[in-house]
Amino acid sequence: DALHQRLEATSFLNTVITIDWDQVQKDAALLQEKIEKGMLSSPLAGVPVLIKDNICTRFIPATCASKALLNFIPPYDAYVIEKMKTAGMLILGKSNMDEFAMGSTGETSFFGPVKNPWNPLYVPGGSSSGSAAAVAARSVFCALGTDTGGSIRQPASHCGITGIKPSYGRVSRRGLIAYASSMDQIGTMARSALDCQAILSIICGQDKLDFTSRNGKSIFSKAKGVRDLVIGIPENLLQAAQPEIQQCILNSAQIFTSMGAVVKWTKLSYTREAVAAYYILACAEASSNLGRYDGWKYGERTPAVTLNKQLCRTRSEKLGAEVKQRILLGSFVLSSGHFDDYYRKAEKARNLIRKAFQEAFEDCNLILTPTAPTTAPKIGEMLQEPVKMYQSDLHTVGVNLAGLPAICFPGGLTHSYMPVGIQLIAPDMEEALLFQAVEAFQ
Ligand code: GLN
Repeated sequence: DALHQRLEATSFLNTVITIDWDQVQKDAALLQEKIEKGMLSSPLAGVPVLIKDNICTRFIPATCASKALLNFIPPYDAYVIEKMKTAGMLILGKSNMDEFAMGSTGETSFFGPVKNPWNPLYVPGGSSSGSAAAVAARSVFCALGTDTGGSIRQPASHCGITGIKPSYGRVSRRGLIAYASSMDQIGTMARSALDCQAILSIICGQDKLDFTSRNGKSIFSKAKGVRDLVIGIPENLLQAAQPEIQQCILNSAQIFTSMGAVVKWTKLSYTREAVAAYYILACAEASSNLGRYDGWKYGERTPAVTLNKQLCRTRSEKLGAEVKQRILLGSFVLSSGHFDDYYRKAEKARNLIRKAFQEAFEDCNLILTPTAPTTAPKIGEMLQEPVKMYQSDLHTVGVNLAGLPAICFPGGLTHSYMPVGIQLIAPDMEEALLFQAVEAFQ
């Protein structure tokens, strides 16, 4: 009930798409009974969690914040939901997001924009906007998000919370509605790294039904603190951020140094190319993944005399502007005359970016960067400037292209009281190091 009241009180933030409170109450009562009987041993038993609306939950609509999926009710649970239910976590409902996870502001949702709890005139970041804003507003304790190019880390940064994008394959994507399959990854969002870690430990691991998922090193590290860890700051990435953000990064570097870490400058080349490569590859994959929304398999059809017209009208009417733009861009870069010029080049850039990270990790354990070049923009500001919005992903997309784990945690406030997020990046499957460092910091 307290939770219900809290979410009602913060409903102006528009963080939620679906919560069926009657069902939640029934589930909660059932869980309570099991806990009392000692049938659930997980420390997270009974903890309510909000789920991004592109993750399938049995009998709860999964709309991806799109008109195209308004009446889609999955008959099955995603792998991560199965795991959370087994641990006894309470699935609350679904959070608002950018349509099909495409966006960095939370404004492309069919259900209207999500607002930033620090100042509702500003965006919360995106695309896991509702998850981040709800955690930041203390409406929920934790949430699941997804990160294809920064969608967990960037809203975590703009809302002043902690969010982890695990290594590609650490968490099964079964039941996650695909955007760009080679980069999509589910992760956890909460107030602290410790909480993110606890929830991640429940949802990670190999799933036979997702052949890209894998078991890796434990996400818990035996060591504590940051003594002797070498943390590299890429100068070019630091300078690409607003001065106040740079200052927060340098302050955090000082804190790490005072705790015994070695902080030094490092090089991470090809960061400019990362944004271009990311948008070519993500749109290409999206154009293929989103081909299924034809009004036959999912959603309602818009009637027309011929099948072709029906398809065109349905897709024109049900998909939002940003989604359509990306499908067009993706189809263009995959078309026979342009494939070599765009797609193949982007693949090459992706390999160079992977190598650049490998080289950087030769002489440091972790890489420290801003999460975003600016703090949250005002609602409406980015809508006129899509290219600026794409460029604002420059600190996050490289990590997805390389499949690495990265965490964003609060690093202070600007003079206008907007939160600044700090990003730490680790080598493949080294989530434990990320948690070790941030837990020492927090
Ligand atoms: N802003 C990026 C995009 O629009 C990231 C999206 C994401 O990570 N889902 O593609």
